[in-house]
Amino acid sequence: MSSKLAPDPAEGARQLLRELNVQVIPIQPREIAEQLQIVVWEREMESQYDGCLMRVGDTWGILLNNLIQSQARKNFTIAHELGHYYLEGGQTERQIPAADGKDRVAEFVPQHRCQREDLRGFDSHRLEEQRANQFAVELLMPAPIFRADAADLPKIGLSAIDALAAKYSTSLTSTAIRYTRLSPHVCAIVLSEKGQIKYFAYSDRFRQNSDCYLSKNNPLHPDSVADLLAKGRLKDAKRSRRKVPLSYWCSTQSDQALIEQSRRLPRMNQVLSFLWLPDSP
Ligand SMILES: [Zn+2]
Repeated sequence: MSSKLAPDPAEGARQLLRELNVQVIPIQPREIAEQLQIVVWEREMESQYDGCLMRVGDTWGILLNNLIQSQARKNFTIAHELGHYYLEGGQTERQIPAADGKDRVAEFVPQHRCQREDLRGFDSHRLEEQRANQFAVELLMPAPIFRADAADLPKIGLSAIDALAAKYSTSLTSTAIRYTRLSPHVCAIVLSEKGQIKYFAYSDRFRQNSDCYLSKNNPLHPDSVADLLAKGRLKDAKRSRRKVPLSYWCSTQSDQALIEQSRRLPRMNQVLSFLWLPDSP
């Protein structure tokens, strides 16, 4: 048997943080790359690509698309490429230092060219990309610290997610997914586009609740906050948190109500919704 068991991505990220003794939030993936002697370049790439893991001989590099504006997305991209390196590429070569990789980008051979679609927090269809994303999420938002920070925040929902995104230097969407998946509450996060549910993620308790079930491509309920915002029928951001019937979002006979908090993401023409079913008294 020659094949080694592929490491669990989250465990890999935690192990790397331990090895390098990194504990300070926000995690700086660029510094981690430096410690691993991986060169990071920013160069213009075709717009569908966010980043690329490269190598020449035993020297590794990360190419970052300099069209990326947000620091959060840069961080996520570097962390994602570190995931490819750590999970698939670099473990056996890590003892060999990079000498003078700085100006030799042209000599490097791409190992993974990662499209923007692959780095979306929700889903990539390709297993290697999913694994690199899982690694990146754990590296930037380590579960034990993140969970504790989330629990310390007084409010549940988008304002907590905003605070965590600022603290961890991560994007609103990836922070929202992390927050929701680690939440002890019955909650889900939904991204909708053109009046339809495009992606969602949820907590364990949401999954276990038989009244809670979301379907991709389902149309938004016309009275949901998300649909009102999408159609411009609701402008006041302060009123974007409402109690709505659970049946607006989930096909259920239950007459329970959930708290829906939605926000337009104008740049992407999408709406992000946090759904929370409060515990009944
Ligand atoms: Zn990738």
